[in-house]
Amino acid sequence: MQQQSRDTDGFETLAIHAGQDPDPLTGAVIPPIYQVSTYAQDGVGGLRGGQRAGHGSGAGRWIEGYEYSRTANPTRGALEECLTALEGGGRALVFASGMAAEDCLLRAVLRPGDSVLIPHDAYGGTFRLFDKVLTAWGISYRPVPLSDPAAVRAAFAEQPARLLWVETPTNPLLSIADIAALAQIAHSVGALIAVDNTFASPYLQQPLALGADAVVHSTTKYLGGHSDVVGGAVVVADLELGERLAFLRNATGAVAGPFDAWLTLRGIKTLAVRMERHCENAARVAEMLAAHPRVAGVCYPGLPAHPGHEIAVKQMRGFGGMVSFRHAGGPEEAAAMCGRTRLFTLGESLGGVESLIEHPGQMTHASAAGSPLEVPADLIRLSVGIESGGDLLEDLRSALG
Ligand code: PLP
Repeated sequence: MQQQSRDTDGFETLAIHAGQDPDPLTGAVIPPIYQVSTYAQDGVGGLRGGQRAGHGSGAGRWIEGYEYSRTANPTRGALEECLTALEGGGRALVFASGMAAEDCLLRAVLRPGDSVLIPHDAYGGTFRLFDKVLTAWGISYRPVPLSDPAAVRAAFAEQPARLLWVETPTNPLLSIADIAALAQIAHSVGALIAVDNTFASPYLQQPLALGADAVVHSTTKYLGGHSDVVGGAVVVADLELGERLAFLRNATGAVAGPFDAWLTLRGIKTLAVRMERHCENAARVAEMLAAHPRVAGVCYPGLPAHPGHEIAVKQMRGFGGMVSFRHAGGPEEAAAMCGRTRLFTLGESLGGVESLIEHPGQMTHASAAGSPLEVPADLIRLSVGIESGGDLLEDLRSALG
C-alpha cells in the first residue's frame, strides 16, 4: 500500500494510523510485538531496517537500523512515531515510566550548578526527584506559583534558571498555567520550558504548539488508558535535543519494553473518544460536588469559578477527567470517605477507564509532607472514569453521606 502523507490527518486518524501502517511482510493491521533483544546483521555493521520512517514531513522514527533493543525496537518505534504525530513534535522517545522520562530529560538539559523553577503544587514524584535525587547532583530548584506569570518573571529575575518545569493542570490541585505566556517569559531569559502534559493528554492540549520545548508524559495514565501498563514519554520539537535524549536513554537504559509499548499504542487508538467521556463525566461530578453541603471546595478547571478557567478555555479542548475536592468534615472524614465508595476504587494512579479515588496527603503526595508542596489533609482526588455518569454521581453522593 502506498504510504500517504499524514500532514493533514486529524487527531483521531493519527491516533489509529501514525506509525502503524500494515506490516509489510504479512499485512497485519496492528504493529507486531517485536519481543526480541537482538537482530541479525548482514555482515559486521550491516544493520537491517535503517530508515527515517516519518509521519508527515519526515519526523518521527529515526533509526540507523536495528542492532539491539535498548537502542531501537520496531514496536517501540511505532509508539514513538504515533506520539510524535499526536503532540505535533519533531521526535518522541518512550521510557519504562513517566519518572524515567522526566529523569532523562532533566539530565539531558541540566548540568551541576543549574537551577530549575518548578510548580509550587507539582506532582509529588516530580518534587521528590528534584528534592531527594537531583539536588545531590548539584541541581537546585525553586517552587513558584505558575498560575501567576508575574511571579515566574520575578523568580527568573531574582536568580537565573536554566529550565521552567510546568505542569498544567497540576496534580492534585488542578491549577492552570498559561503555557504560551510562560514560554515567552522563559525564552526571553534564554531558559527552556518543559510541560508535563499527563493530566490533559495530547487530545486536550498540545504544549509544543504553544511554545514549549519539551512535553513529558506518564503514558501510564490517559495515553495507556486501561491501568495495565507503566510507561513514560518525552516529545521535543528540536531534533538535536531529540538526538541527545536518544543518546542518554541508550546510555542509561530506561527503555519501554515491546509489550508495554504495544499496550500503550492500543490504548492510544481510543484516546479521543475516551477523553470526551472522561470530560463529560468529570464535569457532572464537579458540578454535583460544588453544590453539595459536605464539600468545602472543588478544584476543576471546567468550573467558571476556577481561577484558571479562562486560560483553560484558551489552551485546552476540554477540561479533563480529574477532579479534586476538600471534604467539609476535615481530614478524618476525607480519609474515611475514600474507603466508602463502591465504583470509585481506592487506589493511586489515574487516567484509566475505571474511576479511582484517593487521599493525596497520605498516598500519592505523602512525599511532599512537611515541604512547601504539602497538600491539604482534607483533599480527595478523583480520577473520573468512563462508566455511566449517573452511577458515578450516585456512588459519590452515597459515600459523602
Ligand atoms: N507526572 C504526573 C503528573 C503524574 O501524575 C505521574 C504519576 O502519577 C508522573 C508524572 C510519573 O509517572 P509514572 O508513575 O509513570 O512514573
